[in-house]
Amino acid sequence: MSTHPIVEYTSSASWAMIEDKFSPYAKETLAKLIKFLEEEVRPAEKLAHLQIPEDPAQRWKTLKEKAKKLGLWNLFLSKAHYPEFGVPLSNLEYAVMAEVLGYSGFIASESVNCSAPDTGNMEIRSAFAMTEKNVASSDATNIRTSIRREGDEIVINGHKWWISGAGDPRCKVHLVMGKSDANNKDKYNQQSVVLVPADAPGVFGYDDAPEGHCEIIYDNVRVPLSNLVLGWGRGFEIIQGRLGPGRIHHCMRSIGAAQAALDLMLQRVTDPRPKDLWKIPRLRGTNSDLVHKGTVVADIAKSRAEIEGARLLVLSAALQIDKYKAKGALKEIGIAKFVVPSMALTVIDRAIQSFGAEGVCQDTSLAQRWAGLRTLRIADGPDAVHIQQVGQRELKRVPYLTEKTREIQKKENAILEKAGLKTRL
Ligand SMILES: Cc1cc2nc3c(=O)[nH]c(=O)nc-3n(C[C@H](O)[C@H](O)[C@H](O)COP(=O)(O)OP(=O)(O)OC[C@H]3O[C@@H](n4cnc5c(N)ncnc54)[C@H](O)[C@@H]3O)c2cc1C
Repeated sequence: MSTHPIVEYTSSASWAMIEDKFSPYAKETLAKLIKFLEEEVRPAEKLAHLQIPEDPAQRWKTLKEKAKKLGLWNLFLSKAHYPEFGVPLSNLEYAVMAEVLGYSGFIASESVNCSAPDTGNMEIRSAFAMTEKNVASSDATNIRTSIRREGDEIVINGHKWWISGAGDPRCKVHLVMGKSDANNKDKYNQQSVVLVPADAPGVFGYDDAPEGHCEIIYDNVRVPLSNLVLGWGRGFEIIQGRLGPGRIHHCMRSIGAAQAALDLMLQRVTDPRPKDLWKIPRLRGTNSDLVHKGTVVADIAKSRAEIEGARLLVLSAALQIDKYKAKGALKEIGIAKFVVPSMALTVIDRAIQSFGAEGVCQDTSLAQRWAGLRTLRIADGPDAVHIQQVGQRELKRVPYLTEKTREIQKKENAILEKAGLKTRL
């Protein structure tokens, strides 16, 4: 049995399944990451909360310096794509690291420069601007922002919102998706993506949330022709390539969050403090007796089982991306994308319930984790869209299934005939 510290976070069964797919570098980095999170990051969380109103930039400064020194920096950035800056980790190896980051609370990912939306993206801070106000943007063919060529320049006009990270002062570039060829017969070739410097004249907006999901107007913004990404009409290709791994990173962090919630629940329902603290005479069936309640034990078991199942989904999606790139893993990514955040919400919800009122205030991380995860059922494509696509993909198997059934029926009839039996059904 392996003694890698990851076993304490996941399970020996899931580690046994993937251990041989981990390089010695990945194993060592994972162990180093766990140590850093346990010894440096998790103990600093309360301080980071207190620094929000005073000096938010300080929150991760020291941690980031330490992470860099330890080589725990940009772990999502694959060497295969970025030979100069990347790290030699596969999607599968990084997926497990993302789970530990998700477990370790709200400053963990940022401390090692692996937080969304930049994972799956690039080294400098950036924002991906696709969603538009008053436009059903979960179908990106609907978007209206216009991208047109004028001589050696590209002119952009549009109204975007919910653009994560755009309010961050370090955000230097927006990847703006818009319509460059609205009349193209193929509706998936009508869009392009352009790099727009965050300080280009004509870009303005306001912060929509403390961490910056912004509303942005592009008003006759001009950028050089060379800022076009990949080529005209290749916008969809770009979002598919970028969102695939990014979605899996979200999923893996969600599993870590669910695991953290279950661990809190385990401690809560076995904690004798609630009764001792208030010096209430022990009553049968209260407080620490929670652990003896069938419903509580069942909730714990269900949470354990659901986390294990969801992890398998994400690991298989990560493996599929490693083998066939994001395009060859659309089904697996789609399934994980709508199953995992809902699973994590359910697990966190059970943990909240076990804490009573304490579970919905800021004294534990549960309420914050729940609220953050709820947005994942909308961001990066709503659940309904992924469900629809996975369902449609399944329906494509019908001709094959019908043909197979016909073949088996033929053989069945032949066997019956040979046996001298005939069915009238
Ligand atoms: C926290 C957060 C961060 C975000 N960050 C970014 C970002 O960085 N960049 C960016 O561009 N966008 C971002 N978004 C926006 C997000 O991608 C969109 O909200 C999402 O794609 C849905 O688009 P919409 O809001 O226009 O909803 P709509 O497209 O109007 O959809 C509304 C609802 O209709 C239902 N629906 C839609 N299509 C179907 C279908 N085919 N079948 C069945 N039901 C359907 C779904 O339930 C959906 O939730 C973010 C959103 C959140 C909440």
